[in-house]
Amino acid sequence: NPASLVQIMLHLGEMVTATQSVNEETLQLLGAELDYDIQVVSPEEEDRELLEAFDIEFGEDEGDEADLAARPPVVTVMGHVDHGKTKLLDAIRKTNVVAREAGGITQHIGAYQVSTTHEGEERKVTFIDTPGHEAFTAMRARGAKSTDIAVLVVAADDGVKPQTIEALNHAQAAEVPVVVAVNKVDKEGADPNKVRAQLTEYGLVAEEYGGSTLFVDISAKNGTGIENLLEAILLTADAELDLRANPSMGAQGIAIEAHLDKGRGPVATVLVQRGTLRVGDSIVCGEAFGRVRAMLDDTGEAVEEATPSYPVRVMGLTAVPGAGDNFIVVTDDRMARQIAEQRAARKRSADMAKSSRRRTLEELFSDLEKGRVDELKLIIKGDVSGSVEALEDALLKIDVGDEVRLRVLHRAVGAITEYDVNLAVADDNAVIIGFNVRPEPRARDLAEREGVDIRYYSVIYQAIEEIEAALKGMLKPEF
Ligand code: GDP
Repeated sequence: NPASLVQIMLHLGEMVTATQSVNEETLQLLGAELDYDIQVVSPEEEDRELLEAFDIEFGEDEGDEADLAARPPVVTVMGHVDHGKTKLLDAIRKTNVVAREAGGITQHIGAYQVSTTHEGEERKVTFIDTPGHEAFTAMRARGAKSTDIAVLVVAADDGVKPQTIEALNHAQAAEVPVVVAVNKVDKEGADPNKVRAQLTEYGLVAEEYGGSTLFVDISAKNGTGIENLLEAILLTADAELDLRANPSMGAQGIAIEAHLDKGRGPVATVLVQRGTLRVGDSIVCGEAFGRVRAMLDDTGEAVEEATPSYPVRVMGLTAVPGAGDNFIVVTDDRMARQIAEQRAARKRSADMAKSSRRRTLEELFSDLEKGRVDELKLIIKGDVSGSVEALEDALLKIDVGDEVRLRVLHRAVGAITEYDVNLAVADDNAVIIGFNVRPEPRARDLAEREGVDIRYYSVIYQAIEEIEAALKGMLKPEF
């Protein structure tokens, strides 16, 4: 029955509901588990092949060392709700007003660029103007890498909160270095050092504590500390990243935001990642194509060309692309149209294939009627005994009725070891819960080989919520 399927999926590390359609990766896992052969080609792979047929490589060959020039870092601001992300993005933009030509009216186009003096040099920084990690994650899910550095905003009067950790997890999963902006230091009760102490538990150790993460105290409201934050971003970029791109090739990048303008038609904000985009270029962007008719920067000023890390609003596309779609300058309009049309055709057939695959999934239900699973077995590993116990208690208190049971096979303090993984394998694939702990490398490899599900949490209620939802078969899809 569907509940058993959901259970098997949970064992496989996928949180799904019984009625939800699942992605291809999930189907593969399920297929393997049930001895079905499921062939899947990733959409990214398919697109790469499509472009190759036109002799285009997206994001790969940038030419020789000598062709590469430094480019500004692209930054996303993340953090818990109400900790000041929006205010900070406004404050950063404001610090730069003087540097702009008078009369330039700022436009929210999804990204903006500011300049600052760093070690005697004028440097630029690009900010994605959509706060929060949702956009970041959505783009990443489409295979687009939009961000070089994440600014994690934490309010000093409130401290680390669930979404702070969530945002941090997303940044770390994307291997994006983090700079911490400790905000609202103007407020009474603000305790910036507490934020530093709290974040050490999550692997972000401030430089002044002997770590390598830069923490900057700011007040987005009063506009203090903004220059220091820009400085920290550039220091981090220079220390940890090699941000260079070839400005003299056909431009490539991603769409950050797009909409249909009544007067102008489709308008897309694109971030140039390599090459130089020029008015008159033929471009393809997702399933949209066209000739760049005009470009505007974030002050609303018309520009003729855009170099790497420069966000511009592009007019002239035939349709509205999706956020995270890649854009590529091609030799002529005809090629742009062909690529766009092939992509659209491919998407149609993918949609059709999806609905037919769902039938296959339904077939699987009957195989599962036997009720393979009626018990969810857990192995809990945590960083301190208090949290392991608290988590176990809370999990065992979940009321899931008679149909399914929850059983804790083993609990202990410390990293996830091979022993834990073997235990999970031996006991018909128990799920391992890692609370603020990671697996040892060999344990991780073994888990991968054996298909053991290890789930990581840093917030107790999150663990409870997910397990409870899994048991009740009411899970929302995961990213
Ligand atoms: P977001 O949800 O993270 O985008 O948070 P907002 O930028 O909307 O800010 C949430 C609230 O905190 C607003 O009322 C802001 O005015 C306030 N706020 C933001 N930064 C500061 C700050 O540095 N000091 C003080 N006192 N309030 C701030």
